[in-house]
Amino acid sequence: MSAPVVIAGAGLAGALLAAQLALRGHRVAVYEKRADSRREEVAAGRSINLALAERGWEGLRRANAVDAVMQFALPMRGRMVHDRHGRLSLQPYGVRSDEVIYSVHRGHLNQCLLDVAQDAGAELHFDAPLTRVDFAARRAQFAQAEVPFEVLIGADGAGSVVRASMSAAAPLGDYTDFLDHGYKELRIPDRDGAFALDPEALHIWPRGGYMLIALPNPDRSFTATLFLANRSENGEASFAALSDANAAQRFFAAQFADVLGSIPDFDRQWTDHPVGILGTLHCPRWHHGDRALLIGDAAHAIVPFHGQGMNCAFEDCVSLIDGIGHHTPGSAIDWSAVFDRFDADRRQHCEAIAAMALENYIEMRDSVADPAYQLRRALELELARRLPEFRPRYAQVMFTNIPYAQARQNGRAQAELMKRLTEGKTQLSEIDIDAATAAALRLRSG
Ligand SMILES: Cc1cc2nc3c(=O)[nH]c(=O)nc-3n(C[C@H](O)[C@H](O)[C@H](O)COP(=O)(O)OP(=O)(O)OC[C@H]3O[C@@H](n4cnc5c(N)ncnc54)[C@H](O)[C@@H]3O)c2cc1C
Repeated sequence: MSAPVVIAGAGLAGALLAAQLALRGHRVAVYEKRADSRREEVAAGRSINLALAERGWEGLRRANAVDAVMQFALPMRGRMVHDRHGRLSLQPYGVRSDEVIYSVHRGHLNQCLLDVAQDAGAELHFDAPLTRVDFAARRAQFAQAEVPFEVLIGADGAGSVVRASMSAAAPLGDYTDFLDHGYKELRIPDRDGAFALDPEALHIWPRGGYMLIALPNPDRSFTATLFLANRSENGEASFAALSDANAAQRFFAAQFADVLGSIPDFDRQWTDHPVGILGTLHCPRWHHGDRALLIGDAAHAIVPFHGQGMNCAFEDCVSLIDGIGHHTPGSAIDWSAVFDRFDADRRQHCEAIAAMALENYIEMRDSVADPAYQLRRALELELARRLPEFRPRYAQVMFTNIPYAQARQNGRAQAELMKRLTEGKTQLSEIDIDAATAAALRLRSG
């Protein structure tokens, strides 16, 4: 029997790809360094919940996993902005009833995808870290087992051992641009059995140079994440300056008083929860001949501010499956051509979402509180209401499969138009909507 397609990493992308490949008749074996989270408690590590959007759902559709995931996905209809005075305003994500994003628990999603992969016929191995790859012999060492592979797929995350092994065999020139901001997660428990905040929104406390966000969980808690500079030289807030819980309490009392009151064990959480690092991985080559390919964060980890890292990783799976095309079990696949197609299909789009994710940090922590931004956004939504052809960039990224690079390009033209139409105006009623609609119609919105 020929060697299987071997996937290193049974995280989100690895498990989904395993399911998709197995459903199409490929022999697949997945090796994961951690224990099986369906059987024993495994620390999620980071970002307890994730925003799932259309590109992610498309990946799940291709694995027949939509219904299973929908069971625990919580819809979020917009951003609930909390200003410094505790006032709330909802900024809807879109104008159509299906323009919502979903909060999903990372652990539940991963467990669900492992079940789907296993049911589809993929072999799963746990406690099996990849340590070494012999590309010439097509063999990989996972813990004590030496495993033959037809091809090796690196779905082993940002610190990928597959990528390091590829680079050792032929330098890739990969590097990571680390952000000088990090993040810390805090759990906001339920309040007497009810959600402490509106569960149908992604909550943001924009504070200019930094922000707090919170996403709902099925157990009626919220996971709040503080994004903040790691260090600062001018006395401004930073993780370094908030190294003890008392300083953090004072900071929260001044900036996020409503949240502080909702976290009874704030001091313990602040002390116990680590500060995570964030960065953008640039990797000029994703494959090693016809032997190995990187996908997901192993290929192109990005910062989380557009909520697209996993969605993009799921889109990778779809692209790879489409690139393989129809496959008769037992027939040979030209993997080198498949990997070239994958690169040609994905590279410019992964670069585009990496750039948009960085841009979105400014939007979330600062612009959402700016009246000029709010007017541009209100106009965009009004135009989207009037013109089905007009979809704001945010909607194109989150609610369609329009390629990222095209969405970014469309977004540039839209931003220029919104700026021009709102110049010198403070309210929607001051804008000639018919003229604005005609101008929007002339834009290509994809
Ligand atoms: C704070 C934060 C918030 C985020 N929010 C969102 C969001 O809202 N929406 C969104 O779409 N994305 C979000 N992301 C991004 C998302 O988490 C990643 O893009 C996604 O997890 C990538 O999936 P992956 O399978 O490629 O990698 P991972 O999820 O990292 O999975 C890699 C797997 O490989 C395993 N592994 C590692 N090394 C080895 C080895 N040597 N051998 C075998 N197995 C190995 C790991 O244990 C893990 O199971 C966020 C990220 C962060 C940090």
